[in-house]
Amino acid sequence: MRIGIYPGSFDPITNGHLDIIERGRKLFDKLYIVLSINPNKKTLFTLDERIALLKEVTKEFDNVDIATTDKLTVDCAKELGASFMLRGLRAVTDFEYELQINLFNKALNNDIETIFIMSANEYNFLSSSSVKEVALFGGDISKFVPKCVETAIHEKINK
Ligand code: ADP
Repeated sequence: MRIGIYPGSFDPITNGHLDIIERGRKLFDKLYIVLSINPNKKTLFTLDERIALLKEVTKEFDNVDIATTDKLTVDCAKELGASFMLRGLRAVTDFEYELQINLFNKALNNDIETIFIMSANEYNFLSSSSVKEVALFGGDISKFVPKCVETAIHEKINK
């Protein structure tokens, strides 16, 4: 079985992530979206809220599951039986960071291969933080996130 993991914060999931999941899942028999349990990282959405949104937007994808980990990503991959790690690459900005973590992960576990998928043109500029920022200043985010995520962001920031 070809198993992959797609690790990230997903705070919250955007159409950019979703595009990588839709395209990436075709490469694997099973793709786990992996959220790190990191109490030191400040997020807008709690772990449970991020999981609920991920479940909602990936419910049609029969080979996609959600997992969490409090360990190193490569150790989590091993536990899930995954030999591949999926990452999205936007323009040039992600390259240096991704190169660095890829080299690090390789040093930690050389058996896990990272697969990069280039962002679609329309999502090249899109990040969870920019969506949150735009929403905070009252901008329209409907083009950037699924409907349920848009509603959840508005509920959060209007609290
Ligand atoms: P992290 O906290 O590790 O940056 P994210 O949840 O922001 O995690 O992103 C997870 C992965 O999805 C990363 O590989 C990131 O480059 C990728 N990604 C995020 N937004 C986009 C996008 N708009 N298009 C393509 N890939 C993206």
